Amino acid sequence: MTTFLNDGLARNFLAGSWVEGDKGASIAVEDPGNQDHVADCAQAREESLAQALEAARASFERGDLADMKPAERGRLMIRIAQEIRNLADEGAKLLCRESGKTLDAARDEFIEAAQYFEYYGGVADKIEGKSIPLGPDYADFTVFEPYGVSAQIVPWNFPVSIAGRSLAPSMAAGNSTIIKSPELDPLALAMLGVALERAEVPTGAVSILNGIGSDLGAKLVASSQVDQIVFTGSVPTGQHILRSAGDNVVPSLMELGGKSAAVAFDDADMDTLMSSLKSGIFYNAGQVCSAMARVLVHRSIYDQAVERAAALANGLSVGHGLENPDHTPVVSSLQLQRVEEITSTARQDGARVAAGGARLDREGYFMAPTILADVDPASRIAQEEVFGPVTCFTPFDTEEEAVAMANGTEFGLVAGVFTRDLARAHRVARKLRAGQVFVNEWFAGGVSTPFGGVGKSGFGREKGLEALYNYVRTKNIAISLKV
Ligand code: NAD
Repeated sequence: MTTFLNDGLARNFLAGSWVEGDKGASIAVEDPGNQDHVADCAQAREESLAQALEAARASFERGDLADMKPAERGRLMIRIAQEIRNLADEGAKLLCRESGKTLDAARDEFIEAAQYFEYYGGVADKIEGKSIPLGPDYADFTVFEPYGVSAQIVPWNFPVSIAGRSLAPSMAAGNSTIIKSPELDPLALAMLGVALERAEVPTGAVSILNGIGSDLGAKLVASSQVDQIVFTGSVPTGQHILRSAGDNVVPSLMELGGKSAAVAFDDADMDTLMSSLKSGIFYNAGQVCSAMARVLVHRSIYDQAVERAAALANGLSVGHGLENPDHTPVVSSLQLQRVEEITSTARQDGARVAAGGARLDREGYFMAPTILADVDPASRIAQEEVFGPVTCFTPFDTEEEAVAMANGTEFGLVAGVFTRDLARAHRVARKLRAGQVFVNEWFAGGVSTPFGGVGKSGFGREKGLEALYNYVRTKNIAISLKV
């Protein structure tokens, strides 16, 4: 049986073994719902990183995954998916406590991670090149090759599902992978190693290391032993990582932040808008890169929309994630401070607080579900990512004005259109500057729908078949038939 978590200490999954990491250093993990100490996490540093890199390279050179028959690699991934499903109940309790999210949401993360392995396991033997006609004297074709060692840095808001989202296509393509878990909630992601171990992933093909971003994370992405970088997180960290990627000329995939807008026209179905708002900004306490952070509403239904949104926010049940309430804490004391600080600037910038606006007076790091109305689109709250349960309402009069406002930030992750007019939905969806546009349902889509940003929301796509091609490079083989 695994030694993943013993005596309150979670280990690193390093080249098939559970290890404590360098010099006994550890990270304390706190429950944001009640400030309890959940467990400690053994911290990996330079020495463990060197071992993981060496093991990943050796596994790649041996062809452990890359030379495995593709269908067999697919079956290995399906076994991983099953093991993740087997761990979902146990893992959800851990994830719920360390991240603050509801037990149901935590369980959903494990299921989603399993779905990535099922999806990409199914395509492992379908990564097909093409033949290129050069006339009778040549045979020319392309093959897709794995990069080698993929370094993956994961954020705390969805540690398990995001790790699955990047690890599964990386494995399907035949890469070795090293994952750095987020320091605020590393436990459930470390547990993913249990699924890998039980499914008998080749030694070294995947390691999961727990460490501090500015230490382990920075060293991992700066290593000359890394062939590809996948980063999901904030813009400043992404910029930092891109500098390292530039130094080593390493391809990278950047999944960064957002300030996504829903545009609700005069014919929008108000109930649909409200149910989308509920998940769009209050799921996971708004700590979602693709959250509905702005709501632009046609003036004719604006007052009604603000009133309904405020009633919705005020009516949410609040509690510890284990109780599966509507509304849960943000991840840490620092995050709460940040959310409160930026929300207070909104007031100074003329926004009207229709609901919430400050932290809740209770144990844990709870921000009140917050609806800000009459928000100036140029103000800080309308331009910066809050990453909390706070959304901004602004009225508009014309379609052109709505599109300009929606496109008026430096981000472009997702956007939404709420209307019964299909022609308008198509027209506006095409004009919105975003990697994904939801029509009449925020968060529509799933593991098979490509996802990624425009502008400072990043580049490259995750999810769907599209994502697979971030994890391979094309080789062309041109054969002369004249000899
Ligand atoms: P963050 O950038 O602070 O940290 C993300 C990860 O990077 C963590 O694992 C951290 O340890 C690591 N890190 C920090 N400094 C590093 C460095 N110098 N080198 C290498 N790694 C380093 O972000 P966060 O606060 O964990 O996550 C929230 C952000 O992530 C938000 O901006 C959110 O929008 C974004 N996000 C984007 C997506 C997406 O798919 N586009 C998904 C989830 C979250």
